[in-house]
Amino acid sequence: MSVTVAIVGRPNVGKSTLFNRLVGRKIALVDDTPGVTRDRREAEGRIADLKFRVLDTAGYEDVTDDSLESRMRRQTELAIAEADVILFMFDARAGVTPLDQRFAQVLRKAGKDVHLVGNKAEGREAEPGLIEAFKLGFGEPIALSAEHGLGLSDLHSIVSQAI
Ligand code: GDP
Ligand code: MG
Repeated sequence: MSVTVAIVGRPNVGKSTLFNRLVGRKIALVDDTPGVTRDRREAEGRIADLKFRVLDTAGYEDVTDDSLESRMRRQTELAIAEADVILFMFDARAGVTPLDQRFAQVLRKAGKDVHLVGNKAEGREAEPGLIEAFKLGFGEPIALSAEHGLGLSDLHSIVSQAI
């Protein structure tokens, strides 16, 4: 497992759904270290023949005070530092939100391979969001449905290029 893939993005876009799909029935390792890594999950992910290490970022959804943003930022920065491939997920049905734009700012500074992933793209309602996402500055988004398993062949080609 030489390649590490990090799934980052604001809460509720479907990061954990993709993580679970990539990891399959395996039990994810949970890091119980207090602090920012507490709720981060990592495991071996798979798409067909490809095997890689996958990181899910979370742990800030329940924080309601103004530490949310800094906590989220630290989680994202930790994942970025470890990752070879960054999947920047947004909700294609919801379109681009101000929080997505702040994530984009953090990711631009990373100087790494960032791929924009428009999740929940299993219907036509996703089209406007997929077009709007160009303004995030990472080019054309991959249309994905983590829930329905659509778009995995595009993920396969991205990950295989990083190996
Ligand atoms: P996270 O906070 O980014 O980890 O998001 P979750 O994986 O917890 O998913 C948030 C919500 O989006 C849940 O209700 C999921 O069922 C839903 N969701 C995830 N992927 C998809 C998808 O491909 N299509 C649709 N329509 N809903 C999805
Ligand atoms: Mg999650």
